[in-house]
Amino acid sequence: MTTQGLLHVRAEIARACKDAGRDPAGVILIAVSKTFPAEEIAPVIEAGQRVFGENRVQEAKGKWPALIEKYPGIELHLIGPLQSNKAKEAVALFDAIHSVDRASLCEALAKEIDKAARAPTLFVQINTGAEPQKAGVLPQDADVFIKTCVQTYGLTISGLMCIPPAEDAPGPHFALTAKIAARNGLKLLSMGMSADFADAIALGATHVRVGSAIFGSRPPLLT
Ligand SMILES: *Cc1c(COP(=O)(O)O)cnc(C)c1O
Repeated sequence: MTTQGLLHVRAEIARACKDAGRDPAGVILIAVSKTFPAEEIAPVIEAGQRVFGENRVQEAKGKWPALIEKYPGIELHLIGPLQSNKAKEAVALFDAIHSVDRASLCEALAKEIDKAARAPTLFVQINTGAEPQKAGVLPQDADVFIKTCVQTYGLTISGLMCIPPAEDAPGPHFALTAKIAARNGLKLLSMGMSADFADAIALGATHVRVGSAIFGSRPPLLT
């Protein structure tokens, strides 16, 4: 896997763009490197990939600062849930945060963005399947929440993110996310993972988050 996986995913993205009549420049590949050590990430960087995703602040802090120092132009995205007490570290390390989903987090992010004079690109996560165990704003609450982010907390929201329920066909979830983004004037759509990024591209994804198709299967999470 790794560089071979990367080349394969890039080719599949190009094909999905062609099928959808989209410019490939409009789709950013986020290589999701969670659970993989720096030694397995470095070859992917050396193959030309610069945009990476991690789902835990602590893990990212452990492995990315040295890689960022060594390789110019790395862009790091936080794609997992964020606790308000880690907002400061997240704002310092990440170029984008995909998991904005509650007022307390907005408040913490606004404060840290102001202090750091550094503003990551922000996505609001939509829990399109209304799954109780999953983070994100419910679809019916999304419009009000996005307004609150902007008007109450002064945040700039650039797009929406979703993770469809594993057991569902992803298309309707991507379409719903795209519809909420369009009516709120948001341009970026973070949707699509290893199994379904081509569907997501057909439905307007601007950022696909692909892990196992690049890095191989992950070791089971130690909890
Ligand atoms: C792990 C993860 C991914 C990547 O999943 P793969 O199926 O390995 O491509 C994408 N998005 C989020 C939020 C993740 O946590």
